[in-house]
Amino acid sequence: MNILVCVSRVPDTATRIIVGSDGKSIDKNGVKYIVNPYDEFALEEGLRLREKNGGSVTAITVGTDAATDVLRTALAMGVDKAILVKGDEPTDSYYVAYNIAKIAKEINPDLIILGRQSIDFDSFQLPSMLAEMLGMPSVSVVSALKIENGQVSAERDVEGGKETVACSLPCIISAQKGLNEPRYPKLPDIMKAKSKPIDTREAEKTEPKTSIIGMEIPSKARAGKVLEASDANIDEIVRLLKEEAKVI
Ligand SMILES: Cc1cc2nc3c(=O)[nH]c(=O)nc-3n(C[C@H](O)[C@H](O)[C@H](O)COP(=O)(O)OP(=O)(O)OC[C@H]3O[C@@H](n4cnc5c(N)ncnc54)[C@H](O)[C@@H]3O)c2cc1C
Repeated sequence: MNILVCVSRVPDTATRIIVGSDGKSIDKNGVKYIVNPYDEFALEEGLRLREKNGGSVTAITVGTDAATDVLRTALAMGVDKAILVKGDEPTDSYYVAYNIAKIAKEINPDLIILGRQSIDFDSFQLPSMLAEMLGMPSVSVVSALKIENGQVSAERDVEGGKETVACSLPCIISAQKGLNEPRYPKLPDIMKAKSKPIDTREAEKTEPKTSIIGMEIPSKARAGKVLEASDANIDEIVRLLKEEAKVI
């Protein structure tokens, strides 16, 4: 089974995000980048499927030269090949989907695995766009996956329960937390990954379909309210949750 895993490079979750001076982008000074956490589940699932069924796993990212670091992490985890679709910084989800679809048409994967969302821009658009561009079935937010004889059975967490969805290969899956426990790359593999080849392609520019016109960070977190033991009667707590916190 040949598997393509899409990997996004995102700011570390511990990074303090600052909006740039243009008011519509992130100030990248001092930002540390990591593999998008949901893509670690995608990579792990690809590797497990290869270990069970044979074949190969290719990691792909669309971005600038700097995005090579997430491909090195994927190589250290054990993927067979890494592709950087190199261009300017991504302009919108369509651009990323278009460039991944172009490579997918060339390498014909049996399965494409993505994370459920990229934690930087949180658009949730890539899996569906890619499915539409490639004419493949797509199952989103998958927390358990079985593939036998070309048939896919994917479990999804839904409100208060689970849903099992079937489709056949080739297809697109987006990974949810809990799909597996991603492996930590071992030091010798990290060292070896530094010298592995990265297949670098030129990204094709596309006309942006959407553009960010503004970004803002909430001015101040709301102050918490501390209840004394004498205040802590159930009626008062329910009233505060309803009228002040407005969460029930
Ligand atoms: C430095 C930078 C600057 C950006 N500037 C803009 C901007 O100015 N305007 C704007 O509209 N958007 C901008 N973006 C966002 C970007 O264009 C896309 O929104 C984003 O790359 C992916 O789309 P998504 O949010 O829909 O991903 P999602 O659908 O939320 O991600 C789902 C999955 O898709 C895969 N994926 C996502 N991105 C990539 C990628 N680049 N390569 C490979 N796989 C990927 C991952 O598996 C991920 O888990 C920028 C992104 C970056 C990194």
